[in-house]
Amino acid sequence: MSQDRVIIFDTTLRDGEQSPGANMNTAEKLQIALQLEKLGVDIIEAGFPAASEGDFDAVSQIAKKLKRAQVTGLARTSKGDIDRAWGAVQQAAHPGIHVFLATSELHMKYKLNMTREQVLETAVTMVKYARSLTDRVEFSAEDGSRSDRDFLCRVFEAAILSGATTVNLPDTVGYAIPEEFGELVRYVMAHTPNIHQAVLSVHCHNDLGLATANTLAAIQAGARQAEVTINGIGERAGNTAMEEVVMALHTRPNFFPVATGINTELIYPTSRQVSMISGMIVQPNKAIVGANAFAHESGIHQDGILKNPMTYEIMNPETVGLSANKLVLGKHSGRHALRTRLKEMGYDLSDEELKIVFKKFKDLADKKKHVMDEDLEALVTEGLLRTADAFQLEYMHVTSGTTVLPMASVRMRIHGEPIKIAKFGSGPIDAAFNAIKELTRAESEMLRFTIRALTEGTDALGEVIVRLKENGLIALGRGSDEDIITASAKAYINGLNRMEYLKSHPVEDRQGL
Ligand SMILES: [Zn+2]
Repeated sequence: MSQDRVIIFDTTLRDGEQSPGANMNTAEKLQIALQLEKLGVDIIEAGFPAASEGDFDAVSQIAKKLKRAQVTGLARTSKGDIDRAWGAVQQAAHPGIHVFLATSELHMKYKLNMTREQVLETAVTMVKYARSLTDRVEFSAEDGSRSDRDFLCRVFEAAILSGATTVNLPDTVGYAIPEEFGELVRYVMAHTPNIHQAVLSVHCHNDLGLATANTLAAIQAGARQAEVTINGIGERAGNTAMEEVVMALHTRPNFFPVATGINTELIYPTSRQVSMISGMIVQPNKAIVGANAFAHESGIHQDGILKNPMTYEIMNPETVGLSANKLVLGKHSGRHALRTRLKEMGYDLSDEELKIVFKKFKDLADKKKHVMDEDLEALVTEGLLRTADAFQLEYMHVTSGTTVLPMASVRMRIHGEPIKIAKFGSGPIDAAFNAIKELTRAESEMLRFTIRALTEGTDALGEVIVRLKENGLIALGRGSDEDIITASAKAYINGLNRMEYLKSHPVEDRQGL
């Protein structure tokens, strides 16, 4: 039996980045794109080049770097957007353009102010235009799941006739129910005469917690491309999670006789990387990649698993890249061991970069007996990917205790200029924040502050996440350190840097599907 292939279209860097606060800089996006290519994703939607200079720049950097995966840019159905998308992706080995236009009565009437005929005509003209630039064109019918079925089929037929190689049916608002969505896919396949000349794709949102279920129902009905994000990050309740769809297909091959190009053993490292870089924490009970996904607390379960893992485990943790015997580095580990471990985690460093990280690693290993993967990730994200930051922490000294008024002296570099100050606070973290606030002249309001231990033991690295708000913009900040006050300061500064980036890279109009 020949196995059908499901194309995995990853939109972590476009739709995923639209999660409030998950904005990433170009170096961070490039790192994720390289990891996605290794993971085996077929298509990477790298951004929406017309939305901002930052998006354009990130997409073009990614396009130049990737060799195997297709790099796609999103565009509205306008010549300006399509030119911008093409400008960003044209240097890719496999460049693609993705145009979208809404087809539901609600969207056509209230958002677009267009008639059905106008929508059809615009789709035709713009797909033709995109196709004149590249032979990989995807057309998406935004709000497709709430569109009139026959109109949807007409639009898809016209788009394919005009050169679309993929037509995408999005459940933009996360409204569909699996049985109904699968049936819609069957209907589209049966009533779009030329559907077999294109790939039928689906793009689901998780507002009812059904994104994965809807995507699987669509695949079952014949869709052959799934649009997903790592960890399911995305606007509102997020997108379909790549790891859930891929592992469902992988675990139930008899039910789904289809294959993907994903190397499942890289799922966990990729999930970690996206979480670390975007600051979007994975909930512990998240399927496949949550911290508890493979943890069996119940005694009866543990006993069963020891006797035969199949008793309670439907997947082998190693299949998703969770290795039981993790290599732990320490004081005596050399440069080579560090490079090897980082490579396994998805970080291919140049000699120059390795030098920087190795120095930081040695400093850490002097203070901490076991250096874990989580520690190494923090060294790379903080030491390499954030070097262009406007605000950098040089040193901090904090005094606190039962009899003194907490005080922090902080020295930072603000746009390269060294500057320092000392401030009191109600506690040591408050004192540090007061000092940073004064040095950076920050006006952001802190909406949330969370602190947790990254690894086990009292010498564990503490991780802090802050959520900042300023003029309607939201930025997340993440910091980790063996000292929780330093971790807090790093997180606050990281959040301020991300806010600074957002302010200096205004996004014209973030739209999507
Ligand atoms: Zn979407």
